[in-house]
Amino acid sequence: MMDPIRLLFNSSNHLLVTSSDDGSYTLAQVEPEGRNWHVLSELQSAKGRQSILCALVSEECDVTGEWHTIDRLKDLTLSGDLRQVLQAIDEQLYRIPYLGMGENEYIYRFRTTKERNRSVYIDGQSEALYQSALCLAIKEARRTKEKSSGEPAVLDFGAVSYVIPSHFGFCLGVQNAIERAYETVAQHPNRRVFMLSELIHNPFVNEDLLARGLRYLQTDKGLPLRADGSIATSADDPTTLWNQLTEEDIVIIPAFGATNEDKARLIRRGLSIRENDATCMLVEKVWKAARRYAQEGYTVLIHGKSEHEETKATFSNSSSHGPALMLRNMEHARRLAEVIQAETSEKKALFEASFAGLYSKGFDPLKDLERIAVVNQTTLLRNETLTIIEYLRDVIACKYGESEVAEHLWSKGKGDTLCYATQVNQDALHKAVEQSIDAALVVGGKNSSNTYQLYRVCSERFGEAAHYIQSEDNLRSLDSVRHYIFPYNLTAAPATVEEDRPLFKQVVDKPRILLTGGASCPDGIIQQVIHRINSFFPSDQIRPVQEILAAFRSDT
Ligand code: SF4
Repeated sequence: MMDPIRLLFNSSNHLLVTSSDDGSYTLAQVEPEGRNWHVLSELQSAKGRQSILCALVSEECDVTGEWHTIDRLKDLTLSGDLRQVLQAIDEQLYRIPYLGMGENEYIYRFRTTKERNRSVYIDGQSEALYQSALCLAIKEARRTKEKSSGEPAVLDFGAVSYVIPSHFGFCLGVQNAIERAYETVAQHPNRRVFMLSELIHNPFVNEDLLARGLRYLQTDKGLPLRADGSIATSADDPTTLWNQLTEEDIVIIPAFGATNEDKARLIRRGLSIRENDATCMLVEKVWKAARRYAQEGYTVLIHGKSEHEETKATFSNSSSHGPALMLRNMEHARRLAEVIQAETSEKKALFEASFAGLYSKGFDPLKDLERIAVVNQTTLLRNETLTIIEYLRDVIACKYGESEVAEHLWSKGKGDTLCYATQVNQDALHKAVEQSIDAALVVGGKNSSNTYQLYRVCSERFGEAAHYIQSEDNLRSLDSVRHYIFPYNLTAAPATVEEDRPLFKQVVDKPRILLTGGASCPDGIIQQVIHRINSFFPSDQIRPVQEILAAFRSDT
């Protein structure tokens, strides 16, 4: 093995190079002492095999040479060595900002209550969006009322009551990402601040951030945006914001995380991404689980929607450690079972028919389905993932024998990677639906997966008396609720995406309405929904909020 090649990157992902007398650029000579070196890649040349090591240094560190972005270097005259090295590290670029991170370290840990900085995003402009005295009272009550903290709260306004699960709305990952976005915009008034894609799946939060100057680089489906907000059809379009990014710009990675490919694009442009990465630590936990499974020789199956940002990021991350495959639902699991059970000669065709575009590069269904492990998009219904794991377990037991299951299906953990914030909202809702309820309202963004899962729980219980809405604007009267039809598991877009429905199936005296919100639903919207429904009743039959709060507090 030849001496390693050593590369220095600074925190803005610029590479240290030196210029020669002929105007070309070459690798900088770097002293090995006093730095933390990490293996980034390997170079195979006529001279032999060489490791490529990388160390991160601060911009101010005392070195000889020039710092350049990878993209800028491509426009310069480079020595043969440097060109080869750039080629060799290209697929590993996404790792550079995170080199040296320990197994127990997280990119962005949840802030503690003390560290929270709500004042940065709650001001005169956004108060109605984020603040709710009613929601605050419910959340305080669950903290102080240990024994019955899982019970729903009942707010009795007289003519109408609301049953609100003990846990609903914003999760810690979302609060972290929101704070990060507002803080960054406030701290850098003279720089362009972008979010890779929507911060969270809530149009009101996103609109408030846009009004403060934040911009999105791409849609939630990964399509590149132009400065005027239009969608470009090609990533190569020079008018896209992606292609106009400069080193002065800031790009925040949202709670869903980002694909390795997107991270590499930002790194090539010389943007510092580590300090602006707001990936939720529970999403990162899934990535760590996937890495562990891959290291132990299991193919990672990701139960999630392939078009969702988080699933795309998890798939991209998992694929860098070993074979990975996305599974949408139970139907997909059944088709995968057919592939697992098929004769060798039929496997490839069967696999391609159902999973085209859903597997990692070089995936071989003949060998990569022999040992499997399941992770999931954090916001799905836990039971559904567990059902899929159980189902695949039976398929494997049938094929290899009961005693061989652990060898072929990861069985050491509890078997899913759902986030607990999603789980507590789901569990609290399960308790609330046991109550006597006349209608249920689930509030959240149209593309919010976890909101849809909450809606499913309600619709299974209350049928057409369960409604999926984005805000109080969807409530026109007691006879007209604009219900959103979530396109889950639909092979084609639904003919209509919204429909008008009466709030209640039949006229009821003093109705009880179950009300909850997804992980991206701000408290302020829940309170606005309550105000809107109250307005449909004679005002002299509705008790004032202060009275409700006082009664609620004395009860708890
Ligand atoms: S729903 Fe869970 S995984 Fe997603 S951002 Fe919130 S805490 Fe993180």
